[in-house]
Amino acid sequence: MSIEQEIVQAIRDVVGDADFVGLHVPDIADREKKRVLECLDSTFVSSVGAFVTEFEQGIADFAGSAHGIAVSNGTSALQVALQLAGVGAGDDVIVPSLSFVATANAVVHAGAQPYFVDSDEETLGMSVESVAEVLRTARTTPEGVVNHATGRRIGAIVPMHTLGHPLRIAELIELAAEYGIPVVEDAAESLGSRVGPRHTGTFGALGIVSFNGNKILTTGGGGMILTDDDELARRARHLTTTAKLPHRWEFEHDEVAFNYRMPNLNAALGVAQLERLPEFLTAKRRLAAHYQERFSDVAGVEFLVEPRGTESNYWLCAVRVDGGREERDAVLEATNAAGLQCRPFWNLLHDQAAFRDLPHAPVPVAEALHARTVCIPSSPALAAM
Ligand SMILES: *Cc1c(COP(=O)(O)O)cnc(C)c1O
Repeated sequence: MSIEQEIVQAIRDVVGDADFVGLHVPDIADREKKRVLECLDSTFVSSVGAFVTEFEQGIADFAGSAHGIAVSNGTSALQVALQLAGVGAGDDVIVPSLSFVATANAVVHAGAQPYFVDSDEETLGMSVESVAEVLRTARTTPEGVVNHATGRRIGAIVPMHTLGHPLRIAELIELAAEYGIPVVEDAAESLGSRVGPRHTGTFGALGIVSFNGNKILTTGGGGMILTDDDELARRARHLTTTAKLPHRWEFEHDEVAFNYRMPNLNAALGVAQLERLPEFLTAKRRLAAHYQERFSDVAGVEFLVEPRGTESNYWLCAVRVDGGREERDAVLEATNAAGLQCRPFWNLLHDQAAFRDLPHAPVPVAEALHARTVCIPSSPALAAM
């Protein structure tokens, strides 16, 4: 059998024989419907309402963060978090080339420019060595640390926990602290992932999570800013709600701000989903264990497991093929033709139309990971197959 047919067979053995198996399908049950109807009946469907507060508190408690500020999506969360970290016009922000386009878009919306670095083979996350190399050649000035390659101040570092697998975040935080550069964690994919007892997204000055429809927990669309800092949290809430000053009837706003608040209707869905998060996490770890066992019999294919010392939410399960891009594409052809929705990594950011003219660090590992990785069906419901 060809390698691609062996992979189709292995996935089928784990997920069963449904005609079509999606990459990641939201799991919506009666309790979600009940909460959303409750919200509709209350008429508080918009940016004011009890579900938003309940959801913020619930996520913050789950992640062990002092504050959670619910917003319209993960991209807006990242944009505001960057702004609050002090990123502004003319800055560079260090971003892994291997990420979803939202990471780089948020940097541009915050007025800065992404400077792409390499990834780590084991964790799939930002390479600490690649960042260290940028900082080693940087110049320290009164305004901050200036990137040798661009002449621009490095305003922040944005690591991303890829597919839910935690990167070497403690080392990265230590490195960034040596240079006084804030870290904003893109934990969009890693709700439920931890390094030791500590939740991803709570290591940096600020972190963000996403509740898009394809993430482990969904509010339809949504995101949250996490921080332990009281003042940053106050600023985040103010900036995402039009910077309105409290008053019984007057509309006074003290700066240019955003309408990024999460609607109560979405938060109602989130509250019900959050009650089921432990169930989702257990299911995903079980699914990952099934895949790992099944793929241990397939030569030339490696199922990607959580990095040592971490606990991954296994948001998306993935395999790495020994051959290069051609073999990856053959696997994508065969699996998708067989009704198994599989996807490659996002095209690397340094290669996307909007960013390809920007200077960037060498990214050989990101290129190899991109050429050899296939994400496979990962819905929590598949664990029961
Ligand atoms: C999903 C995601 C985001 C944010 O997504 P939204 O769709 O705006 O909620 C940001 N970064 C990464 C890596 C993501 O996967």
